[in-house]
Amino acid sequence: MGREFLFSSANRSRICSTPQETMPQPTFNEKPHVDGGKPLIDRFGRQVTYVRISVTDRCDFRCSYCMSENMVFLPKREVLSLEEFDAIASAFVARGVTRIRLTGGEPLVRRDFMTLIKTLSRHLDHGLEELTLTTNGSQLPRFATALADNGIKRINVSLDTLDAQKFTILTRRGRLDQVLEGIEAALGAGLKVKINTVALKGINDDELADLIRWAHGRGMDHTLIETMPMGDTGFDRLDHYLPLSQVQSELSREFDLVPDPHKTGGPARYMRVAQTGGRLGFITPLTHNFCEGCNRVRLTCTGELYLCLGQEDRINLRDVLRSGGPKALDAAFDEAMRIKPRGHDFKIERLGSAGVSRHMSVTGG
Ligand code: SAM
Ligand code: SF4
Repeated sequence: MGREFLFSSANRSRICSTPQETMPQPTFNEKPHVDGGKPLIDRFGRQVTYVRISVTDRCDFRCSYCMSENMVFLPKREVLSLEEFDAIASAFVARGVTRIRLTGGEPLVRRDFMTLIKTLSRHLDHGLEELTLTTNGSQLPRFATALADNGIKRINVSLDTLDAQKFTILTRRGRLDQVLEGIEAALGAGLKVKINTVALKGINDDELADLIRWAHGRGMDHTLIETMPMGDTGFDRLDHYLPLSQVQSELSREFDLVPDPHKTGGPARYMRVAQTGGRLGFITPLTHNFCEGCNRVRLTCTGELYLCLGQEDRINLRDVLRSGGPKALDAAFDEAMRIKPRGHDFKIERLGSAGVSRHMSVTGG
């Protein structure tokens, strides 16, 4: 099976057998039509229990390592409706998915986002253990309380610098004060916040220790991420690539880093910073491959189910749903488990170009 796998027409006709004219439309609160709730286990024996859903490709920022300055966004008609997101997410929960993370683009710029949160939160304590999101924080002053009121317990906020000028340059338009206000609003609403920082040589390497102290000082976990070669953005990632092995040894001069057994089923390895008492995560796709324990798949806002962040293997669930209705999702999920690749093959030497042509905002990290 080639890496450029697209759901083959043979499989598609097997799964999408319902004629277009009799297409059953998913409706809110419809119970997912799945047979038996069989767990999602791939051919390497890994169980998928975690789905990341990109609810929009749009964003109010244009972070240089993530998007290009003149990003062209998808026409709205190509993006899944809330009912379609709900039908797919519900079918996943029925197949043993216990965690859903909503992301983007920027999830909070999607106008009807809170409606999606409200409808998906009905699964909490009914199979779904956690509904959460990753956000750039700019809209949190408006939405933090509503998120907390609708079952969200913790969120990830991306923040790469505490320098206001650098922040605006790096995000090409963002305002640091708005994001800091958003973080305070989230903490004030009782949400647990984890800060995610992409480590960038020559940009924020001189302030990573300060960022750690700042986050831990507010009771927030902090995770550092290596830049990944995804999509052309007009930014030379090779120039700014910073291996986290190097960051860790530099931080060790300032902090005592004690290995922490904390596991989220995700790719991060954790350390406890003795001086701050806080937890520090390292996500190192380039220097340390984290694929053997992979428990996740990613849904784009157009309904493409990507089976690995660093590969092209995918299934178009929008077509499956629109032609076969929610019942057809079950067979598509089984096919997805059959083709989920063993792992990504991000390479440092590919950082200069886009190793994977899609931008991170397509699959939401
Ligand atoms: N807009 C939201 C945000 O910024 O948190 C959610 C989507 S964003 C694509 C999710 C995460 O991906 C962010 O933490 C961002 O820093 C990270 N990211 C984006 N492009 C990346 C890249 N090329 N390499 C590593 N991380 C990246
Ligand atoms: Fe937007 Fe998040 Fe990408 Fe920045 S990292 S451009 S905030 S999607």
